[in-house]
Amino acid sequence: MNNNLIFGLDGATFRVLSKLMEKGIMPYMNNFKKDGAVSILDATFPPITVPGWLCIATGSDPGTLGIFDFGEYAPYPELNKPAIHNVEKKKIWDYFSRLGYRSAVINFPYYTTFRINGVYIGGLLVTNEHYTYPEQFKEEIKNIVKDYQTEVDLKNASVNDILNRCIYTIKQKVDLTKYIIKKYDPKFLFVIFSEVDRIEHKLWPYIDPLYKLPKMGIENIDHDLLNKFWNTIDSSMMEIEKSYIGNTDGNVFIVSDHGAGPIYRTFYINEWLLKNGYLYMKNNAQSKGSTRIPLIQKIYAIVRKHPFLDKHLTITKSKWLFDLIMKFTKNVGFEKKFEDVKEYIDWEKTIAYEFPIYGAIFLNKKNKRIMDDISYKKEIINKLRKELENMNEIKLKTYIPEELYIGKNLDLSPDLFIVGDDFEAMISSGFSDGKIILDYPPKMLTGTHRMDGIFLAKGTSIIKNYHDFKIRMIDIAPTILSLNGIVFDKMDGLPVRDIFYNKSKDIN
Ligand SMILES: [Zn+2]
Repeated sequence: MNNNLIFGLDGATFRVLSKLMEKGIMPYMNNFKKDGAVSILDATFPPITVPGWLCIATGSDPGTLGIFDFGEYAPYPELNKPAIHNVEKKKIWDYFSRLGYRSAVINFPYYTTFRINGVYIGGLLVTNEHYTYPEQFKEEIKNIVKDYQTEVDLKNASVNDILNRCIYTIKQKVDLTKYIIKKYDPKFLFVIFSEVDRIEHKLWPYIDPLYKLPKMGIENIDHDLLNKFWNTIDSSMMEIEKSYIGNTDGNVFIVSDHGAGPIYRTFYINEWLLKNGYLYMKNNAQSKGSTRIPLIQKIYAIVRKHPFLDKHLTITKSKWLFDLIMKFTKNVGFEKKFEDVKEYIDWEKTIAYEFPIYGAIFLNKKNKRIMDDISYKKEIINKLRKELENMNEIKLKTYIPEELYIGKNLDLSPDLFIVGDDFEAMISSGFSDGKIILDYPPKMLTGTHRMDGIFLAKGTSIIKNYHDFKIRMIDIAPTILSLNGIVFDKMDGLPVRDIFYNKSKDIN
């Protein structure tokens, strides 16, 4: 059995990485491209971390898992209820375990840990009390890495702090991984670097030279430090590969759970539903949203229209202007969260609302007519799609679950998904005092997810310098298992045989 190594780069996209590879900032990845099979990875929809990594690990579609986002639907929209349906489905490492091989999984983003023959360390969403399997491994970590962080803490961080803190946690993961390699000698090793995604969310205008908006609210960045961040990701993968595979036979993969791109606008879908007779407030209150957004919108519109300000505020003075706007509006909140407004919603009359899943509309299951009358339900969906897609102010695309998923758990899916401006508009579930479109990203979030992830594979059993193939996230597990000649249960994904050097190895 060969050693198998997967690097997970959360949110990695060639949109960003290709230039860094060409410039020599990521030499390991650049060589990887020449040595292996490389393609854009088709993400599952919506392109989101929790279903993304679970689909990669299980080879199952979100429709089979019944997991479409971080949260899932709870009748009468409760607080974001964690998506837990079918999460016990067999993961790629379970197949190695079944054959008696050890595995190690590091920084996998999910609410709980998973049992494993080897060691499992949770990432984002896991609690500080329970983040390892076996449980006592947590004590061992204390001796290997000082102050190990499952998720990088970016509170009150300047842009350069963000970079430094991310570099710090990446190095922690490398030290921990090298220790685990020595101690457990796993046949399957999966290491996820979530820092790529965090940098993209926070610092998109600096990563993407084509970003169109002024960099309001973000102070100057140290460009050498930004390059050091990308170089640290690259050299960390090289170091782990060297320590794990060295000169022996093995396969290495680099995958992401979704891509990334800029955000320019915010679409307040619940405000739109309210205005268009799908969502009702008690006592006919218009909206319980915040007035701060219209105010920021107005100030921002003045800044953008003024060519001098637009040009000169992009760098040094932007922080000053942003602070000034914040100061003047400090007594008014940002948009109000759905959770804070929901008690004012008339749940008898409401037909549709968006929460808790990103960009996804649920029909109100408390509404008797919707539950009892299927043709009425269909009529509502069709009307919603038509009205949303015909909006002039924003380009909206809508999808029903049957157009996106396979699998038996579509009843857990939202009833309608929307995408704004080809993902360049953020869909917010918040309320903003009647404002439907904000010409600015929400809360200064400047980058977010896209459907194009990355897939790179190299090793003893993989064709070199091959780029002409397609792969979906659900194909990754069956591809790796087939490559190792491991028999697996039926999955939604299929092995991508095109990349196999020796196709007879594929026994499924
Ligand atoms: Zn992600």
